[in-house]
Amino acid sequence: MIPLLRSLIAGFSLLALAWAPLPAQRTTPAPAPVGVRPIDWPALAEETTRIMAGYLKIDTSNLPGNELAGALYLKDVLEREGIEAQILDTAALGTGRANIYARIKGNGSKKAIALVHHIDVVPATPSFWTVPPFSGEIRDGFLWGRGALDMKGHGIVQLMAMIALKRSGVPLNRDIVFIGNADEELGSTGAVVFVRDHPELIRDVEYLLTEKTLNDVRDGKLVHFSIGVAEKRTFWQRLTVQGVPSHGSMPTKQNPVPRLVAAVHRLATFETPLEVTPGVERYFRDIARTYDEPQRSWLSDVRRALDDSTARAWILDNSTWNAYLRVTIAPTVLAGSNKTNVIPPEASAEVDVRILPHHNRDSVLAMLKRVVNDTAVHFTTLIEPKAPLESPLESPVVRAIERAALERRPDLFVTTPLLNGATDRPTYQAAGILTYAVDPFLVDVAEDRMGVHGNNERISLENIGFGVKYLYDILRYVQ
Ligand SMILES: [Zn+2]
Repeated sequence: MIPLLRSLIAGFSLLALAWAPLPAQRTTPAPAPVGVRPIDWPALAEETTRIMAGYLKIDTSNLPGNELAGALYLKDVLEREGIEAQILDTAALGTGRANIYARIKGNGSKKAIALVHHIDVVPATPSFWTVPPFSGEIRDGFLWGRGALDMKGHGIVQLMAMIALKRSGVPLNRDIVFIGNADEELGSTGAVVFVRDHPELIRDVEYLLTEKTLNDVRDGKLVHFSIGVAEKRTFWQRLTVQGVPSHGSMPTKQNPVPRLVAAVHRLATFETPLEVTPGVERYFRDIARTYDEPQRSWLSDVRRALDDSTARAWILDNSTWNAYLRVTIAPTVLAGSNKTNVIPPEASAEVDVRILPHHNRDSVLAMLKRVVNDTAVHFTTLIEPKAPLESPLESPVVRAIERAALERRPDLFVTTPLLNGATDRPTYQAAGILTYAVDPFLVDVAEDRMGVHGNNERISLENIGFGVKYLYDILRYVQ
């Protein structure tokens, strides 16, 4: 433990240097309420690292998931703190699978806030990794392992922030609910079953914090903190064309392949309408300050910029921003004949369609059919979109995150990037809970891209210490 402690301390002082704002800009953190026991932050960081390493050692690759083992590990940590935990839903989810639920009580004067993470991870191929993906090894100032970033590391930070609040005796107006779900990475059945079968456990939950948004760190420099208010929704389609099989040496008009290709081409080249949602509008306005003119003016009023051809071309050239502003359509899978000289009876394509937070699936489907403009092309929905998801830009959660972030870096700002991917948030939002994504870490964008669903996923020890204190403050300020 001594080398770990030493690297932690070294990590913290490096961090302090790297982030040191101008002293005059530093705001004074709120004084701790009377009766609150002080927290030994370096010791808590070390404890969090140890517990996280144990969690990463449990292989919860989905499939099969094996979340029950992860849930039992969390239950053990919670019960050592005198927090009762329930292992749930194995019967509904299948052998070896589970959700976990626990709660610490506030005084009940305000509604509860939930911390939600998923216990499962995507599989890892050990041969591509520097250290075995389920070793929980600490090396070079990092804790390595599948799930360190997505999102078992975040889950342990949630757990330890909650435990720290209980230990320190901070007065709570809101209960804090801790939930770990199975199967986020594949079918989302964990969250779906939990919300469906245990409405009584979340009836009083007003707000929820979970993945996935990224504080923007580039080349080791933090640009801004992030709050996720909204996300895109998957609406995958399969296009099928029937034809008449025959020999490739004597082509006929009933070959389904060219007909399908024409339909796919029309979809792929169609310019879907541009729409500016509230979180995206704020995001562009907030980041405008980090650009020079004319981009600064364009971003500060993105609606107007989209009417200007030069500004629009510049904005849409960024594939992330392009996806923020419209339905995206990406043809990916193609199937026709498996022999060059055989015209097949059927050809099909799969298309990754992603709709904006507020879109209606029927009108999007009608648009796709209009674009294809061929009744021989049959559409099948492979994945129905989850519930619409855009949380208010103004709320106690947003204010708490802003306060905690700006205390750390008063020279920066907090903003609301859209998530182009998908999480379990809509499942909870549909149950009447306002959900937000928060990122407890400051991980370089390049590091995140490498590790999340990739190889050598890892989290730095200084980030673990940062994360648990950041989330502790957010939970304290949201009271
Ligand atoms: Zn995730």
